[in-house]
Amino acid sequence: MIKINRKLKICFLIFLAYFNILVWIIVFDLTQNNLKVIFFDVGQGDSIFIETPQKHQILIDGGPDSSVLEKLGQNMPFYDRTLDLIILTHPEHDHFFGLFDVLKNYQVKNILWTGVLKNTAEFKEWERLIQEEDTQIKIARAGQRIYEDKNYSKAVDILVLYPFENLEGEEMTNVNDTSIIIKLFFKQNSFLFCGDVSKSVEHKLIDKNIDIDVDILKIAHHGSKNSTSEEFLKKVLPDLAIISVGSDNSYGHPTPEVLVLLEKYDIKLLRTDISGDISFLLK
Ligand SMILES: [Zn+2]
Repeated sequence: MIKINRKLKICFLIFLAYFNILVWIIVFDLTQNNLKVIFFDVGQGDSIFIETPQKHQILIDGGPDSSVLEKLGQNMPFYDRTLDLIILTHPEHDHFFGLFDVLKNYQVKNILWTGVLKNTAEFKEWERLIQEEDTQIKIARAGQRIYEDKNYSKAVDILVLYPFENLEGEEMTNVNDTSIIIKLFFKQNSFLFCGDVSKSVEHKLIDKNIDIDVDILKIAHHGSKNSTSEEFLKKVLPDLAIISVGSDNSYGHPTPEVLVLLEKYDIKLLRTDISGDISFLLK
């Protein structure tokens, strides 16, 4: 009897110790004032995870398969099964297919997308899933401020720069050029996420004199030669460019044209096919 009591006591103490450590992990995690931006390596596609200092989690695109689930599991606390915002830049397989599994496995509070239509089975599945989800759906349009916190130590600002018009219900032949373009500021740091837009959209931004000068540029369309014009790159002039791309993809991405241009302007490049996940922890 005495032995059983001692065993119980030891088990209880071990449980208390674990519980104590767990509480401290959660407290430590919640008190960090960092901004996390991670370009997930999801092969040929895009998926970008943002965690604000307030622990709000935002996912821009979900890549072409369910590998995004594993990435979220690695980068979110195990007790957190909620995403505050999903942004779908445009409804193409390599950007939205992974979001299907995200919607099935996480509670998604808000969804931002363009509302453009496509006549494919995959697109109908997307529409079905977002209708079933208990979520706020917003249609993206330039000028929207989709996230803001003015607290100096945690100041984050996320803006929509494109599309200029509300595209809800419109059927487009080229959905790449409907991609939502997003600018993110955090203290002295800034990012530009360009989806898969082509040079023609880049020129529209330049023509409208929109401020696109940032530190870190997510190169559009996985380094396609139809995107990233010299004029655009000169305007953005980032310190660092990121290309989200799969190794040995059949499109030849990233193309020599884009790589040569980055070299010409001495812009450092990181690629998900070479580096894997590319993470920024900004204080
Ligand atoms: Zn793409």
